[in-house]
Amino acid sequence: MRVTFSMLVLLAACDAEAPPDGEVPEAIDYDQFMLYGLASNYWSDSEIPVCWETSGDATEKGWVEDELTGPRSWSNFADVSFTGWGDCTSSSVGIRISAGTSMVVTGGLGDQGGTSTMELDFSATPQNTWTTCVANSLSREDCIRAVSLHEFGHSLGFAHEQRRNDTPTSCTTGLNSGSQGDTEIGDWDADSVMNYCAVSTELSLGDELGVLSAYGGPFPGWSPCSDSTYPCPSKVGDCDVESDCADGTTCVHDVGDLFGWSSAADVCLADGDMPFPGWAYCTPASPCTTGLGDCDSDADCAAGTICLNDVGAEHGWSSLADLCVQTVATFPGWSACSAASPCPAGSGDCDSDAECEAGTRCADDIGPTFGFPDLSDVCVPDPGYSIFK
Ligand SMILES: [Zn+2]
Repeated sequence: MRVTFSMLVLLAACDAEAPPDGEVPEAIDYDQFMLYGLASNYWSDSEIPVCWETSGDATEKGWVEDELTGPRSWSNFADVSFTGWGDCTSSSVGIRISAGTSMVVTGGLGDQGGTSTMELDFSATPQNTWTTCVANSLSREDCIRAVSLHEFGHSLGFAHEQRRNDTPTSCTTGLNSGSQGDTEIGDWDADSVMNYCAVSTELSLGDELGVLSAYGGPFPGWSPCSDSTYPCPSKVGDCDVESDCADGTTCVHDVGDLFGWSSAADVCLADGDMPFPGWAYCTPASPCTTGLGDCDSDADCAAGTICLNDVGAEHGWSSLADLCVQTVATFPGWSACSAASPCPAGSGDCDSDAECEAGTRCADDIGPTFGFPDLSDVCVPDPGYSIFK
């Protein structure tokens, strides 16, 4: 839908749902961020080809290519790159762009069976049409650049931020605009370039950390995660304490090497987001803490933990993977666990699941694994439970 200068429509009418006439986004005093992704449609290959369906417009095409391959692009913060930029053929995969009069990604978010179809407004005065351009008094060039950043966000699989379930009631613009995601990355981001209730011309720090979380990438640095500014989403670090991580994630220490960073880096992780560290990852020289594996013997595990066989499925890894699990040094005694005083994972003896803490269950006769007497029963992590917590 074409809109007029006065309508103040936010950039990128994904499905052309216009906000109420004259709607002016309020200043929102939120300091938290991130993205709303359709994780099932993220691209599996980090190199995403881009081609042009339409001929001509060399200058405008140059602006878009420069923007999306430059320091302001998504590609500067994650393992994604936009390559090619020549003319499309009938068999071209990746992002296929047409010059037109709209700013839209059609056919849905992210990888749509190998392609993503985009239209960019290369008409005479797009800066008078799209709200972010109007609100920021952008030139024609800067308008095309800024909206391209937003549209490429859709092609990467990111939905409009204001469609999230945790969008504050103060944000009322474009609540039904565009496709929905399936994954809320971090907290709601008032400044996201994907948010209609912002008039941003550049990626927010939340966008940067969000695309990193979705696609992986370079080390964000020591301690960029913080409660007061940017609680990090899953798969982003470095965090120092639990409150540095967004809701639903935990700061897991010394696992940066699993993300290609320093092994001393601490990473915010949601349940199931820890990559499998590898077979025999834990060694006596570098023993693992609770929740890490694979270990082969107790010597591979840090003090207070033992190597528990075949519990990798707890993390979505091979069921044959062995993990270091917290335990108690000495046998607490027969029936030491009770419903009134349930035991944590690695402790016993229990008689029923009710005698084990939430997220654990009572496993029969595995006491000797923990150095406890024969036939003793021990509380162990239950499938789906993150033993990081
Ligand atoms: Zn959009």
